[in-house]
Amino acid sequence: MGDLVKFVIIGGISEYDVQVMAQVFFHHLPFEMVEEVPNHGLCLHVEICGTGEVTATLFDSGSMIAQNTATGAKPVALAIYRVLAEFTGYRPPWGLLTGIRPVKLISAMNSSGLGRKEAVSAMISRYLVDETRAELCADVAAVQARIMQASPQNSVSIYISVPFCPTICHYCSFSAYPVSKFGNRMEAYLAALLAEIAYLGEICRGRPVENIYIGGGTPTALDVKNFRILLEAIDRAFDTGKALEYTVEAGRPDTVCAEKLALMRDFGVGRISINPQTLKGETLRKIGRGHTVSEFHEAYNLAKSFGFEHINFDLILGLPDETLADIEATFSGICALNPNSVTIHNLAIKRASKFHTDIPQLQKQTDMLALSREFMGCAGLVPYYLYRQKNSPGNFENVGYSRPGFEGRYNIHMMEETRSVLAAGCGAITKLVDLEANRIERIVNLRDLDQYIQRVDEMIARKGDIFG
Ligand code: SF4
Repeated sequence: MGDLVKFVIIGGISEYDVQVMAQVFFHHLPFEMVEEVPNHGLCLHVEICGTGEVTATLFDSGSMIAQNTATGAKPVALAIYRVLAEFTGYRPPWGLLTGIRPVKLISAMNSSGLGRKEAVSAMISRYLVDETRAELCADVAAVQARIMQASPQNSVSIYISVPFCPTICHYCSFSAYPVSKFGNRMEAYLAALLAEIAYLGEICRGRPVENIYIGGGTPTALDVKNFRILLEAIDRAFDTGKALEYTVEAGRPDTVCAEKLALMRDFGVGRISINPQTLKGETLRKIGRGHTVSEFHEAYNLAKSFGFEHINFDLILGLPDETLADIEATFSGICALNPNSVTIHNLAIKRASKFHTDIPQLQKQTDMLALSREFMGCAGLVPYYLYRQKNSPGNFENVGYSRPGFEGRYNIHMMEETRSVLAAGCGAITKLVDLEANRIERIVNLRDLDQYIQRVDEMIARKGDIFG
């Protein structure tokens, strides 16, 4: 059993608010609420007084080692931030912000009349966000404001989940099922999925479908016959010709073939994602991707030969044993392909020392992110969407970059919650966005493959309750 961080909370402070801020520094340690400061281990004592002043005190083995007091807009976060920054020496790049959608904040400031410069200053002074991140948010918000101009007010996005993958990557956190073990469920899954897609088609009648996104899993893990059946069903259900964007995640290069590319062209798919993650073969083997660097290049060249221009590459920073030099080599290789779209993800960092979040590891991740911004900038790509990794040390940002005109519209709507998403399939989440009322309703489908197949009627009925 590892060390615990214990909390003593006095006054009307939410345990969640305390935990979420403390986690930025002590992600690796579990938490426990206690009545009084124990005489062993780390304990964070947080107290609010009648005037709203918050005092955070850190104890180690019963002895006070740091204390700070804060007032103002976010006194709980600020007092904890100060005391833990003093103790660890770490300054989180996102400051007091703990949510996964920081761009929402700056977009709201822009909408309320604040110019870019003022909004960036506010991010830095009010929320202690570092200047790089504040500017990054402002860049993203500016691109998104342009994209939103071409988005019909009442439009919706469609998301279709195909949860099969050739193998399961070691870092996978999605509902993904390896074809070798679950391939015998493909037909049953498609039958269930097609029923849900047809129902979504009925719901959408009369509303513009702006984006269609087939994700998962790896949709191209379906065999050619089933892949065609899926694309035909989508074509029957929605006006694919009028959609501004139609994406298929062809993430695993080893699932891309001429027949599937031809089908995608025939059915109007304009955007695909082929994901190398890294251009270091040894790492690909370590993480269980089951494909090689050459297979990535072959899949990419084949897709280009079918006329695909809007191809996104996903890359991951912080893969096992990868150095800055490895990352640099990957960026160089990717930029040599003159990409139109690259998405940079961070792998959650698991290693950490006894008391402190692993500062050298966080620094390495910070350096990798800086390198990514440099390479993407040189390649002429600008950031268009951004979200922060939930529950991960550093809470670093994942960023989508593109050449102007090659932004992923679905990604923007999904992340910024600017349009409703109607979703079908295992683990898919439907979101009904009411911008005027500032309300979002979620309907979450079952994540378990067999359960989904058996209970698809229930998934459909749940949507029926809301859409009538
Ligand atoms: S390709 Fe994506 S969904 Fe499939 S196993 Fe890997 S991480 Fe999971």
